[in-house]
Amino acid sequence: MPELPEVETIKNELLPHIVGRRVTGVTLFWEGIVRQPSVKEFYSHLIGQRLTGLARRGKYLIFSLTSGEVLIIHLKMTGSLLLKPALAEADKFVRAVIHLDKEPELHFRDPRKLGVMWLVEDASSVVGKLGPEPLEAGFTPQVLSQRLANRTAPIKALLSDQTFIAGIGNMYADEALFAARIHPLRSGGNLSSEEIEHLHRAIQQVLWSAIGNKGASTDTYFRPDGTRGTAHFQFQVAHRLSGKLCSVCGTPIERIVVRNRGSYFCPHCQPDP
Ligand SMILES: [Zn+2]
Repeated sequence: MPELPEVETIKNELLPHIVGRRVTGVTLFWEGIVRQPSVKEFYSHLIGQRLTGLARRGKYLIFSLTSGEVLIIHLKMTGSLLLKPALAEADKFVRAVIHLDKEPELHFRDPRKLGVMWLVEDASSVVGKLGPEPLEAGFTPQVLSQRLANRTAPIKALLSDQTFIAGIGNMYADEALFAARIHPLRSGGNLSSEEIEHLHRAIQQVLWSAIGNKGASTDTYFRPDGTRGTAHFQFQVAHRLSGKLCSVCGTPIERIVVRNRGSYFCPHCQPDP
């Protein structure tokens, strides 16, 4: 699933091609991709608008429109947004095409059909409950510490909870916990202030590094030009088959299930709670 670094890469790489462009048409190959409003209203509110900006919040992409409304896209498990020449044939997994007044146009490709689009007046009706952005200046070790206080849930579950902190999913939670040497089952409220500082630094390092590598293509993630990211080549534990050796100490990486999510860690570097 695309997480913060993948969505940030998509935003950065779409921006120069779409901002200032006018939407001349929309083709929906699968209408279920529009969550809100009705499909008829989606067409009438979007067509003719100019795209004035593009931002990311958590794993959401937010396109601003001249009308003041916003088009919000969540790629979920398998979605990608691809820049294609006008009149390029859509493959069978393309669910929507947004046609623009100049090339290229935007193909929303999504094999599993889980991705969603909203067209709303107020972005907060969709993204209002998200936790803080981990790469913004306001996200300090103190903020992380306050949010962890009295939380009994495993730290792995908290890091991938979008209302606790935005944008981190299974892969980068595993990577950040390994970098901070914290076991995924540690209770959030029991981390020491030193561990919280390490975790804060690890979260930012892991995310910035993955953005630098244009995201991780472990499965169906593509950059808008159709190429793959390389962040997964830096992964220490995430997506490793159990039995691979820890690059730090040589112990086999183990997999456990935390709140239904497979979690990879080194039992030596990240000792038991
Ligand atoms: Zn190790």
